[in-house]
Amino acid sequence: MRNVAVLGATGSIGGSTLDVIARHPEQFRATVLTAHRRVDTLVDLCVRHRPELAIIADPARESELAHGLAAAGVRCEVASGPAALVGAAASALCDTVVAAIVGGAGLESTLAAARAGKRLLLANKESIVMAGPLLLEAMAAGGGTLIPVDSEHNALFQCLPGGRPGLARNGVRRLILTASGGPFRGLTRADLASVTPDQACKHPNWVMGRKISVDSATLMNKGLEVIEAHHLFAAPAEAIEVMVHPQSLIHSMVEYVDGSVLAQLGNPDMRTAIAHALAWPDRIESGVSPLDLARSAALQFEAPDTVTFRCLALAFQALRAGGDAPAVLSAANEVAVEAFLAGTLAFLSIADVVETVLAELPAQAVVDIPTLLERDQLAREAAGRVLRNAC
Ligand code: NDP
Repeated sequence: MRNVAVLGATGSIGGSTLDVIARHPEQFRATVLTAHRRVDTLVDLCVRHRPELAIIADPARESELAHGLAAAGVRCEVASGPAALVGAAASALCDTVVAAIVGGAGLESTLAAARAGKRLLLANKESIVMAGPLLLEAMAAGGGTLIPVDSEHNALFQCLPGGRPGLARNGVRRLILTASGGPFRGLTRADLASVTPDQACKHPNWVMGRKISVDSATLMNKGLEVIEAHHLFAAPAEAIEVMVHPQSLIHSMVEYVDGSVLAQLGNPDMRTAIAHALAWPDRIESGVSPLDLARSAALQFEAPDTVTFRCLALAFQALRAGGDAPAVLSAANEVAVEAFLAGTLAFLSIADVVETVLAELPAQAVVDIPTLLERDQLAREAAGRVLRNAC
């Protein structure tokens, strides 16, 4: 029996994780569930999954959560605040941590799980983008296992020998990350000038949280994934290629020096990657319908349009700059996406904000987490200034 902490349980990945867990009550138990502010949704999940601990990140809502659970007849511990998330991720309540909080807010609990030697199922890509080397060091020191949940990295993990090799040593030439192209694939900059948050969040193939949906629309999501792949698989930028594949049936590929290309296919449903990560090295049923190849559309591939979708090029730029440039990129992007979702920034200006902040804060070496968090804060403040000047 594995005891699983689902950090970000009320989100899209959290919900898919709990769906898979509920299919295997003899193997998995959700012992910790967390949310940011959505008390009612968290209470509903606690009624269904009966965790030992429920955490609401916003401390102002702790008593609301306690009352909601009592009214629903759920008896479990209640806690609140970022420190409670960190404590839970490292606690004896869980041996497995699903890191599914969105954004930089997930970094400290992800690190805590790594340091505590947990089996870490990583969905929160922003934490590895921000703190790649430090997170991997923490994993090594803790002695746990990191299994990627992001579908592309989970696909690569499945196609690479032994999961996480040095590439050249294993005859790998390239990692090919597939991208759906998002809802705006094929549009011009003129077309994109007035697109709305709802249009940006209407992904053609995946149902996801709003932040990652906007990242998919700008191609920043793919840029963050390039950086994630660089860290997870020790792959230099030149060995990572992005290929737009609108059907989202191939989740990524590994090309070997002998010309073999291994791909992982499946319907676009995160429960496949989550089930794989939960059960690895075994396999369990996920609830995802089998891929019907005969009825699938033809598989298409095209190069990404990095002139229209500049965020992908900016992510490669940050990766090549090294140090804390990816953390600065990710923080500036979070602020810009929030402004776009709030209706105060135009879609095309997201890239402008990120570019300006990257220029204002040239890359510095990543020394430790406190310094990194300071730089994260500086990047957020710089992005805030750019936004105010733009208004
Ligand atoms: P959602 O927006 O659907 O869910 C985010 C979760 O994080 C919610 O539980 C939310 O709580 C919680 N949360 C938000 N802010 C905070 C905070 N400051 N402190 C603590 N908890 C917080 O996101 P997704 O599930 O779509 O994505 C989660 C992560 O997984 C992201 O990093 C994303 O990039 C990654 N990912 C997502 C995929 C997907 O298909 N959705 C695919 C691959 C990766 P509340 O509900 O109360 O707001």
